Amino acid sequence: MAFDAEAIRAQFPILARQVNGKPLVYLDSAASAQKPRAVIDAMTHAMEYSYANVHRGLHTLANETTDAYEAARRKVAAFINADVNEVVFTKGGTEAVNLVAAGLGARLQSGDEIILSQMEHHANIVPWHFLRERLGVVLKWVPVTDDGRLDLEAFQGLLGPRTRVVALSHMSNVLGTINDAKSLARMAHEAGALVLFDGCQAIVHRAVDVKDIDADFYVFSGHKLYGPTGIGILYGKADRLAELPPYQGGGEMIGVVSEDEITYADPPHRFEAGTPPILEAIGLGAAIDFVSGLDRIAVAEHEHALYERVRERLKGANWLRVIGDAPGKGAILSFTVDGAHAHDVAQILDRYGLAVRAGTHCAEPLMQRFDFTSTAPASFALYNTVEEADAFVDALTKTQAFFA
Ligand code: PMP
Repeated sequence: MAFDAEAIRAQFPILARQVNGKPLVYLDSAASAQKPRAVIDAMTHAMEYSYANVHRGLHTLANETTDAYEAARRKVAAFINADVNEVVFTKGGTEAVNLVAAGLGARLQSGDEIILSQMEHHANIVPWHFLRERLGVVLKWVPVTDDGRLDLEAFQGLLGPRTRVVALSHMSNVLGTINDAKSLARMAHEAGALVLFDGCQAIVHRAVDVKDIDADFYVFSGHKLYGPTGIGILYGKADRLAELPPYQGGGEMIGVVSEDEITYADPPHRFEAGTPPILEAIGLGAAIDFVSGLDRIAVAEHEHALYERVRERLKGANWLRVIGDAPGKGAILSFTVDGAHAHDVAQILDRYGLAVRAGTHCAEPLMQRFDFTSTAPASFALYNTVEEADAFVDALTKTQAFFA
């Protein structure tokens, strides 16, 4: 294989540890990815050498930290082909969707329609439900086909004169399905709606160009992209951000404040009230440098080869149920083992040093759609190896024997 996973692995200190006396096999990167040395070092360096609050001080450390924070914003902008003022730092992907939903809610009315899909994460469902509860907007759901694709004909049928917002996942955290964001955006715009993409998973596995997609809003988290927790990104087209009211009030998001009057700063600062996640932004900047330094197509091929290897080796396993088989899907295997609860499977796999998730993955409408109470997804990342894929198949086969 051309891609050198071992060399990449060596940059992730945590992957050298053992779990339950076995080498750690981390297959839970879709929930949160491990961190390379470059991210750890960037954050440590900031704390050890150059740290102060941003946008406030005139002293050297304040200036250096502000420069580092704003440099991170420029890195994010370049990474997704946005303008720098179109990049808002939030505390995560979840907060970014909440910010947009709360802002758009200020101009929505009862009977306005918002289109979501059955494959959304709760982060891209619950903030819209708030608007349903508070304003009486109507939520409409794009169905998911048996193999895990969005039903595009049904989507077309849902679009109408009252559609105000279309909010869809770019890649599903359960099915691995990668949606054609550009076509979806075109369809939404033709109906006169704004479009938001939840890119929390997609941003990790493919190059994202928000201008090419023509997204009005695009959100993602830092921690799945090999960066720290506590930071996310809201991209919004300049005009769209300018139309949004502030989300939270506090320092640094204002123009002037007096006893009787207030004006607000322009985006992105309008949406960054209070002390922002400074160290986390610096860490995310380092993560973006790390990811940008890789051949992203080779990474995706490597991840996919691991996924295919596992699928191939488990082909004859009549005790395995898998959801998500969309063409071109990402390297997430969501499965159940007949006769076993996903939690038990995950716990037994842990004894072999394997980390996989189990549960509803904050995607309950999707679980209902497939009539599953929970699944155990194994997600493959750039640092996983062929040996680990094989270790997973072997451990899963042994685990299944407990329940046979
Ligand atoms: N959307 C998707 C598709 C996700 O996978 C996740 C994280 N599991 C989120 C949104 C929420 O991201 P966060 O928890 O980092 O805010």
